[in-house]
Amino acid sequence: MSELNVVSISKAQIPAEPFIARHLIDGDWRSSTDGAVFERVSPSHGTVVTRACKGGTADVDAAVFAARQAFDKGRWSRTSGKDRATFLLKIADLIDRERDRIAFLETLESGKPISQARAEIEGASDIWRYAASLARTQHGESYNSLGSDMLGLVLKEPVGVVSIITPWNFPFLIVSQKVPFALAAGCTAVIKPSEMTPATTVVLGELCLEAGLPAGVVNIVLGYGDPVGAAMTADKRVDMVTFTGSTGVGKAIVKAASGTLKKVSLELGGKNPQVIFPDADLESAVDAVVFGVYFNAGECCNSGSRIIVHEDIAEDFLARTVTLSRQVPFGDPLDPSTKVGAIITPEHQKKIDKYVRDAAKSGADVRLGGGPLAVPGLTGHFYQPTVVSGVRSDMPIAREEVFGPVLSVLTFKTLEEAIELVNDAEYGLSAGVWSENVHTCLEFARRAHAGTVWTNTWMDGFAELPFGGVKESGQGRELGKYGLEEFLEAKTVTMRIGRTRAPWVDPRAA
Ligand code: NAD
Repeated sequence: MSELNVVSISKAQIPAEPFIARHLIDGDWRSSTDGAVFERVSPSHGTVVTRACKGGTADVDAAVFAARQAFDKGRWSRTSGKDRATFLLKIADLIDRERDRIAFLETLESGKPISQARAEIEGASDIWRYAASLARTQHGESYNSLGSDMLGLVLKEPVGVVSIITPWNFPFLIVSQKVPFALAAGCTAVIKPSEMTPATTVVLGELCLEAGLPAGVVNIVLGYGDPVGAAMTADKRVDMVTFTGSTGVGKAIVKAASGTLKKVSLELGGKNPQVIFPDADLESAVDAVVFGVYFNAGECCNSGSRIIVHEDIAEDFLARTVTLSRQVPFGDPLDPSTKVGAIITPEHQKKIDKYVRDAAKSGADVRLGGGPLAVPGLTGHFYQPTVVSGVRSDMPIAREEVFGPVLSVLTFKTLEEAIELVNDAEYGLSAGVWSENVHTCLEFARRAHAGTVWTNTWMDGFAELPFGGVKESGQGRELGKYGLEEFLEAKTVTMRIGRTRAPWVDPRAA
């Protein structure tokens, strides 16, 4: 594969000893009740990088008990917004202090490039700071318009104990899109990171303790979806589950949570289209397409994996995309110049490859890549940058999440046809449009079925702006003031002023 930009093994050292990860329950680091452990092998370097306690239902039981006690005794829920904000800001400072350590662990476990991991940790501390601002400024409503003898108040109260279940693709960023908002609202939490990437959530637990967060407010149970995630979902002492992960597991969580009718918030998959019109700034569009599909090796809910390009410019656009794809540095994630690292597991690599092979069998044209990538000196699993054209919207590669560095290219003739293709999807996470015509952009933004629309850009995110999906991409929102609202309940307080109410039963009339 000499025509690709492959970064081979760097001099950065893999630690001799794996990171040891324990559960955090009621302020203590604990081993599993049954002593079980599991190991995480680096997907890029092939060595054991983490040894973690493997939780069971007894560990979940203890963590939920601690979170319930901390909530019910008001150790956190009755603190002031000012005090909560002070803790959140302290944790943000500690995250900044530990940025390089957290980023290194994230790269070892996930195979993502170290430069990207560092940027994610910086983004995470910014979210903690933003949530601190909400902790102080959130408030309810008052109704002084109900008549001279009535006053109505709407109090915002924390939902209670929250189970937080996260995936492996952005472990520290995603936990930071949930925990600080839950804490800002006054909730207590039990967190389960993915079994692929437990280490950085454990470091977050260390930082919460160092910041002085009361025992039981943040608890962590490590392990697999079954039994840990399932027990955290079904437990009747838990008031809410917030989950980020696959749509399949999201549906299982909704079923399991229905037994207690607890609140569920879901951030799920996507098959996100970018539509390119002939009047677009094509140089910027090609760069954004390449970024959108290869960022995080395509293992990204927001992957711009479905390109819908106007047929007049399709050939030129494809040629430019293939040329730029060849220049993206793929390879050793510990090398600071690498932009695309390893695939999370060998099984996942096979799944990606099957989508490409099946598309080719159905008549699509593999214009670049389409197979594993050999990186000299590394034993991990890497996939070539891959561009597939001639894709029809009924092919699995156009409808399902490939979750790899694979671009599917479809074409359109009119705006109507483009919008039809965009909305012909089970998912509705994000969508993008490239055009210099503001009317085209506005029409697209209003008609695309998606939680986020980008115009002439891709994947910009801010702590202030809500993020989430429609259709099978999820329910609820993270970030922004909406991200805090998820963790709040509204309580109505209706107050009578003076003894003005006419009796319902008048004893004098009886
Ligand atoms: P996954 O659904 O396999 O696992 C996610 C988490 O759920 C893990 O911690 C896992 O252990 C746990 N889990 C598994 N089975 C469970 C069960 N029955 N009950 C409770 N918990 C269970 O997802 P993944 O492979 O880790 O992550 C990739 C998926 O996440 C992709 O589909 C991606 O699109 C999605 N994702 C979405 C967003 C978003 O914001 N919309 C962000 C990142 C990732």
